[in-house]
Amino acid sequence: MRRVIVPAAAVLVTLTTAPPASAVPQQKVPVAEGYGGAVATVDHDASKAALAVLRKGGNAMDAAVAAGAVLGVTEPYSAGLAGGGFMVYYDARRGRVHTIDGRETAPRAMTSTSLEGIPFDEAVTSGLSAGIPGAVAQWETALRRFGTTSLKEALRPAIEVADKGFVVDQTFHDQTAANAARFKDIASTAKLYLPNGAPPPVGSTFRNPELADTYRELGRRGPGWLYGGRLGREIVTTVKNPPVTPGSTRNVRPGLMELSDLRDYRTVLREPARVDYKGLQVYGMAPPSSGGSTVGEALNILEALPAVGLHEYLEASRLAFADRGKYVGDIPGVPLRELLSDAFAKERSCLVGDRAMPHPAAPGSPDGDYTGCPQPAGATPEVTAEGPETTHLTIADRWGNVVAYNLTIESTGGNGIVVPGRGVMLNNELTDFTFGPAAGDPNLPGPGKRPRSSMAPTLVLKHGKPVLAVGSPGGSTIITTVLQILVNRYDLGMNLPDALAAPRATQRNTAQTQAEQGFLDTYRAELEARGHTFALNPEIGAATGLELLGKGRMQAVAEPSRRGGGSALVVHPAR
Ligand code: GLU
Repeated sequence: MRRVIVPAAAVLVTLTTAPPASAVPQQKVPVAEGYGGAVATVDHDASKAALAVLRKGGNAMDAAVAAGAVLGVTEPYSAGLAGGGFMVYYDARRGRVHTIDGRETAPRAMTSTSLEGIPFDEAVTSGLSAGIPGAVAQWETALRRFGTTSLKEALRPAIEVADKGFVVDQTFHDQTAANAARFKDIASTAKLYLPNGAPPPVGSTFRNPELADTYRELGRRGPGWLYGGRLGREIVTTVKNPPVTPGSTRNVRPGLMELSDLRDYRTVLREPARVDYKGLQVYGMAPPSSGGSTVGEALNILEALPAVGLHEYLEASRLAFADRGKYVGDIPGVPLRELLSDAFAKERSCLVGDRAMPHPAAPGSPDGDYTGCPQPAGATPEVTAEGPETTHLTIADRWGNVVAYNLTIESTGGNGIVVPGRGVMLNNELTDFTFGPAAGDPNLPGPGKRPRSSMAPTLVLKHGKPVLAVGSPGGSTIITTVLQILVNRYDLGMNLPDALAAPRATQRNTAQTQAEQGFLDTYRAELEARGHTFALNPEIGAATGLELLGKGRMQAVAEPSRRGGGSALVVHPAR
């Protein structure tokens, strides 16, 4: 059920007094414990911005939007105002979990065959793959419904970082270098991100004054400047006439976006996808994301098994991915209730034996009739390629509000096209559609449709109160990263920092399970003896999370080393 959000009256608070700079650690750390609010993001500037908002009296949603906008500056290849995302929010005052869908949409002119026959690599860098951005509408909705400040205020930290600059780290440098071949073919992108024809050196300061101006103007004029106004017109022009570098031979296909598509864009407040797992209530994102349904189904399958270990984790994930591929997309009639029912999970769980099941696992029948142990048969949709990038942040405030927020522009570097003069990169989210032909696939493109996502911002409640928040980037590995962290935490007895740091494996109904070297070193022999086969994946995910430890104590947790390590902060550190 879709519900278009009607903005509620907002209480506007001006956040003026800055905290003393010395109070915030200069170096990022992956774990922080204390009181009064907690923040974990992949980036120290973004975490500091969120912490400053919390210290000045803002709530978790104010801080999430501020941090999201800063990530648009410091992680511009993963997130930005021309992207989209999903938020899962615990509203402490009402004791309710809400989700906000800010996913990009396909233009009205897009049909089920619009991507057919187009090589994936060609679609990646094109106007055609740019979805109607959802981020700004989502920020506005989030602040009006749940925040205490205005969009203009929330953008201030990002403006400051874009103006003053940030220090280029190895990750930013490497991501730029990995994109250099396509960035140089787009004049506006080369000008910004390849300043002397090369990626900015590690340790240099990177400024984006045009993006600062764009945020400033957005704050002044409001979201209408994008959704139908001048910025929107410039985005449409860029999508339809990508600014290809003169002399480049790259075929950069134009897109179908019109100003009317921007005018029509709406965020959607959706019922969360919820399962109960061993006395906990796990809330995630419903379709068009497959995050909540797939994590939830896998948890239900695990709960139906007599014991949970890594073998069971891989098998439950395999089965849940088979169902995701067949049933989940932005279509009417996704059988979400059945997919998340204990009875369906029980039926699916009977396929988990001592040995890895044959590949591929076929989808089940979430039809309400669950008797015996049917051996499912039938076509298994391929796991389609999804980029490895995006970002996730988690924030809790002193009042008990908690946000898990996944934001993205899809590929690392989105579609590679910076809007000339605006310092902002466009998304290529529409590559998340199935290109087809694929009769019956729920994720074929369509007019106004949202591509299926894997983003899985997740909140865990106990007796109706939040205890944990977690999420990650990583395309479809997002789902397994979140699932594995929950299994590590709640089944294998790890604390949250260990659960995040532990080596990962991802089984998405593929012939081989991808795994990090640390996982292979420790578990390969034992799991191969049970019929699993493996391929190396050097790095899976870049998670952030937090745990509420009771009596107001909070633990913010980021990656110790993946993707250069993240930044965890708390308002009042415990001594
Ligand atoms: N586009 C991806 C999704 O929505 C997220 C980006 C990524 O991490 O690859 O699932």
